[in-house]
Amino acid sequence: MTGRFAPSPTGEMHLGNVLAALLSWLSAKQQGGAWRLRIEDLDPQRSRQEYADRLMRDLEWLGLLWDGEVIYQSQRTDIYDQYLRQLQAYTYFCTCTRNEILAAQAPHESDGRIVYPGTCRNRHIQSAKAAIRLIVPNENIEYDDRIYGHQSVNLATHCGDFILRRSDGVFAYQLAVVVDDALSGVTEIVRGRDLLLSAAQQLYLYRLLDFTPPTYCHHPLLINEQGQRLCKRDQSLAVSAMRTRYTAPEVIGRLAHIAGLIPEPVPLTPEQLLPQFAWSKVPAHDITVTNQNNAI
Ligand code: GLU
Ligand code: ZN
Repeated sequence: MTGRFAPSPTGEMHLGNVLAALLSWLSAKQQGGAWRLRIEDLDPQRSRQEYADRLMRDLEWLGLLWDGEVIYQSQRTDIYDQYLRQLQAYTYFCTCTRNEILAAQAPHESDGRIVYPGTCRNRHIQSAKAAIRLIVPNENIEYDDRIYGHQSVNLATHCGDFILRRSDGVFAYQLAVVVDDALSGVTEIVRGRDLLLSAAQQLYLYRLLDFTPPTYCHHPLLINEQGQRLCKRDQSLAVSAMRTRYTAPEVIGRLAHIAGLIPEPVPLTPEQLLPQFAWSKVPAHDITVTNQNNAI
């Protein structure tokens, strides 16, 4: 059994990242598995080595130690290229701009999602500067999530043919995550529920590439009292800010408490928390971080 934590080094590590790291670590270690660290630095515009370095120092400080070498996605473009070529029969080039896609979009897609209408499918564009899209089937992808239960997602209506490589040559998260998790033997994926439906895109790629799919455990998000998702802009929730005021066991204990794992927010190391971890304790609803209960 192998779990992983796959942060994007686009800012300071904050409490929401710590929850993903902690739950994936606990689940892997309780099953006697390995826990791997992958730095998702595919996008050179948004990623910084400095953030990756700080993130690793924060994980070490928290006592969440990974197994084996750290994987950097920025160093793996040859590998992604090789798998992209395997998918050639199912891909095509696309030169649509965002505005063209929005203009062609069916009016009912009003929840903010962009569903690509397939405009370039039959255009037979050949251009190194075009994006590459994957043709998706008009069928439901079925899977089970440990917390959110059975999911059934039709990719044709959920996202349409999705991007595997951007027009600037940057590989898409959806392709890289599948290739990396499969090649590093990851069997269980724990991450925030914002990626719950992305699993359908990923499972379709597992099928096309003939990889064994992992199990999925999406966890609730941390939200503030206004119901907004905590984000990297909330400076006080950055691990670096918490380090100046708390010990690592205090941060772990408070987070474990608000995540439902322990009845009182007592200081604990991740190791000490292990016997008390159970997925059945983790709620499906998002977790409000208030001044009373938070780790700051
Ligand atoms: N890199 C993503 C993030 O930091 C997580 C992707 C994943 O766990 O699959 O939100
Ligand atoms: Zn197009």
